[in-house]
Amino acid sequence: MMMGERAMHPAIDSRTAASLARPFRMLIDGQFVDALGGETIDVRNPATGEVIATVPVGGKEDMDRAVAAARRAFDQGSWSSLRPDERGRILWRTAELLEARADEFAELETLDNGKPIASARHGDIPYAASVLRYWAGWCTKVGGTTPLADTPGEYMVQTWPEPVGVAGLITPWNYPLAMAVVKHGPALAAGCTTIHKPAEQTPLTALRLGELFMEAGMPPGVVNIVTGHGRVAGAALADHEGVDKISFTGSTEVGKSLIGASRGNLKRLSLELGGKSPTIIFPDADMEKAIAGAAFGIFRNSGQVCAAGSRLYVPRSHFDQVIEGMAAIAQAHRIGPGLDPATTLGPVVSDVQQHRVLGYIESGIAEGATVVTGGRARGDQGYFVEPTILTDVNPRMRVVREEIFGPVVVATPVDDVEELAALANGTIYGLATTIWTQNISNAYRLAKRLRAGYVWVNCNGIAGPNLPFGGFKQSGWGREGGPEGIHAFTETKTVITAL
Ligand code: NAP
Repeated sequence: MMMGERAMHPAIDSRTAASLARPFRMLIDGQFVDALGGETIDVRNPATGEVIATVPVGGKEDMDRAVAAARRAFDQGSWSSLRPDERGRILWRTAELLEARADEFAELETLDNGKPIASARHGDIPYAASVLRYWAGWCTKVGGTTPLADTPGEYMVQTWPEPVGVAGLITPWNYPLAMAVVKHGPALAAGCTTIHKPAEQTPLTALRLGELFMEAGMPPGVVNIVTGHGRVAGAALADHEGVDKISFTGSTEVGKSLIGASRGNLKRLSLELGGKSPTIIFPDADMEKAIAGAAFGIFRNSGQVCAAGSRLYVPRSHFDQVIEGMAAIAQAHRIGPGLDPATTLGPVVSDVQQHRVLGYIESGIAEGATVVTGGRARGDQGYFVEPTILTDVNPRMRVVREEIFGPVVVATPVDDVEELAALANGTIYGLATTIWTQNISNAYRLAKRLRAGYVWVNCNGIAGPNLPFGGFKQSGWGREGGPEGIHAFTETKTVITAL
């Protein structure tokens, strides 16, 4: 297929086909617009490499326009001065509109990101709607405290949580719509105005979400969505003096660069970054569940999950059993295009990502690792990588130290369970850990020693908008979800009145 030529998708719903046929435009100040420079990026289906759409390449001037609109909307109180229940109603209505177009959004997400359609239809899209509803409820619940003044005299003291201002939201490509609402939701519930820069590989559902916000009654300028390249549009947003806060989800490397970019006006910064999360199986675990859970923890979404269980620690007594069980699950995966309902494992998001993952596997082999299963690309089109298990690894190897962000697990046998905390913590990251054991005291004792922000015991992948999520160490700054999620978008004002 020639660059720029649009692919046909006989398997998709007619509404998705109509959605793909309509132009994808940025949302700035309530208007759907092309980039000032007129350039576009090709968006590809990772299952085939075909171009499915084009989106505008927002540049610095486009970002200036978006920031000016968000600034104006914030300073005029177009959003923060609306009654809280009216703001909640608009977010709730956005969730309803999303549900009404759920099939279209699911198919767009699958075409854009590659994930199996069942994951998009029963996971990402309903999750995004529930996230919007959760934050809709918060609009009427943001409130302060009345601390006592510990000083002679009579005073009334109040704390007022106020919106931090104009919030720049930068998101990755692994859960495109979910990541968008995980940021828009609390920002808008707190009373901020937003500018969203989605990942360039997966901008489609973010742009269609903009339509839903406007249809739900969002005042112009409150939500702005600018597509483009991270190093230009993303950097312009992070650097902008008119932006008060950046909420970023992505790699640790780019996250660190935003610290410098935020310096100019000391903008607030939340960082949800990478991980190299361990799965730990105790000898007393329900092995059947642990094996299935460990496989799910690394192979779901083709391993493109920040909290993926990419390091596996198993007692030597059970190592072969676990590896054989996980290899059987890996080999049973139906690898194929996400739109095929039989597919259980889709492609990774791009050719760049495919090469990156395969490069890691090669580096592991070169350093002495053994490939138990997988290890290769699959098929002659699209960006497929086989689910892969590597053994004979050691902590010095890149595959053990670095985030691969693909369906690749490195497995290590453990002789002494006392070593587990040190092994689990032996990484620059601290995002998640999964523990499998039937002895809950063991689980809690270990959990207390872990330097990680999220711990699953005898389960994996459970999340929710009410659950604070984020990392220790180089996995980030701050938490998303629950009350901590709203605090990330507020400033506290303390008001002291002498009576
Ligand atoms: P990435 O390369 O860091 O990109 C993330 C976002 O930042 C994209 O929108 C990207 O735009 C933009 N960006 C790139 N360079 C930028 C710059 N200089 N200034 C401002 N923005 C810039 O990450 P990714 O490869 O898309 O996503 C995978 C990473 O995300 C993994 O490390 C994963 O662990 C992490 N992640 C973390 C969480 C969490 O909650 N902790 C959740 C999901 C993913 P372009 O797309 O245009 O480059």
